[in-house]
Amino acid sequence: MTDLVVRGGAAVTAENAIIADIAIEDGRISAIGRELPGAAREIDARGLVALPGVIDVHVHFNEPGRTDWEGAATGSRALAAGGATMFFDMPLNSSPCTVGPAEFDQKRAALERSSITDFALWGGIVPGNRDSLAALAERGVIGFKAFMTDSGLPEFPRSDDLTLYEGMREAARLGLPVAVHAESDELIQSLTARCAVAGQTGIRDFLGSRPVMAEVAAIQRAALLAAEAGAKLHIVHISSGRGVAAAFEARARGVDIAIETCPHYLFFTEEDVERIGAAAKCAPPLRNAHERDRLWGTLLRGVVNVVGSDHSPAPPEMKRDPNFFRIWGGIAGGQSTLAVLLSAGHHERGLPLTRIADLTAAWPARRFRLPHKGGIAVGNDADLTLVDLAASYTVEESSLFQRHRLSPYIGKNFRGAVRQTLLRGQPIFVDGKIVATSPGRFIKPAKA
Ligand SMILES: [Zn+2]
Repeated sequence: MTDLVVRGGAAVTAENAIIADIAIEDGRISAIGRELPGAAREIDARGLVALPGVIDVHVHFNEPGRTDWEGAATGSRALAAGGATMFFDMPLNSSPCTVGPAEFDQKRAALERSSITDFALWGGIVPGNRDSLAALAERGVIGFKAFMTDSGLPEFPRSDDLTLYEGMREAARLGLPVAVHAESDELIQSLTARCAVAGQTGIRDFLGSRPVMAEVAAIQRAALLAAEAGAKLHIVHISSGRGVAAAFEARARGVDIAIETCPHYLFFTEEDVERIGAAAKCAPPLRNAHERDRLWGTLLRGVVNVVGSDHSPAPPEMKRDPNFFRIWGGIAGGQSTLAVLLSAGHHERGLPLTRIADLTAAWPARRFRLPHKGGIAVGNDADLTLVDLAASYTVEESSLFQRHRLSPYIGKNFRGAVRQTLLRGQPIFVDGKIVATSPGRFIKPAKA
């Protein structure tokens, strides 16, 4: 017997959108069609849009070890409120970082207790841990993350070119992608040192120390190393249209390169950093309006593969310092990814809902081989978000579910509100409230 029918909404996949009922049995979608038979429970979705649950490929929940920064309990609640049903946690800033099998086991066990959504885990590449990558792959990481510049954490040092190249070779052998934070360490260190000598500590000084050129230079080098290593590459949080263009050039030459950007690069500009301050500090930094518009152009043309939140919170005391360089970076906007794509994308720029379904669910499930995830289709997990496209709202501190309610989105207006989020057929967020009753699951990628 069918457990639940979601009735009469517009069901959106990466391919099309149709008005249909969605029947759910044992957490999976069992039928999609008009006027399906009744079920034990029904959700009236008439007038709503059913999108596949967002798979956020990039968050920092900092558990175990730094749950005072966030933790998966609050982090996953924020995601659920924003329409997400799964996330990929980065190997930092948990303590320990996920750079070996014991650290992986510790994180998996912690998140299985605390997360209300499903999750997967990134492993890390750091100098000296190449022999651990196979064990991490065996345990089910979805890929490996490396930094080309200072990560901010001494226990997760940047990868020099040889570390990155050899890590990529090993990742290629294991059939997994390598994600890189691509900014040129050499340029940034020199520009930062110059500011320090001159006593320049302001917001504009910080922005000037991390130019678009530094991003482009690192993307080009990462693409070269990946091509030599025969590795799949994933450039995280590309902040600029020129950065995407550099990655696209590499793709045109045959490099298997995935392009990720974040909602904040699509929504804000460097003028917003000056207005908002610490809550809008991130690296790479927000860019000028011209770069933001070019970034939108690449997304609308289908060059960008995925939009991840890079939800990266920190306690308020780390977000206060008269010297802007010393303020901990990271934007805690995990609840707002779909909001930005619906409001600034769909309503304001004509981004089709089918593209949103691809950018936030279908592409991540395909690329990372997530079984039964990523789309509204018979046989898939019933991971859904029901959205009222016409509803307008303003983000308020009180509506955020993250641990520290420091977000650049507070006070911003959006059109397109999440009404319900369902994980494997179970409502986890309904009309402003978290209603999850059981923890999420660790999801391992299918074998290549
Ligand atoms: Zn990140």
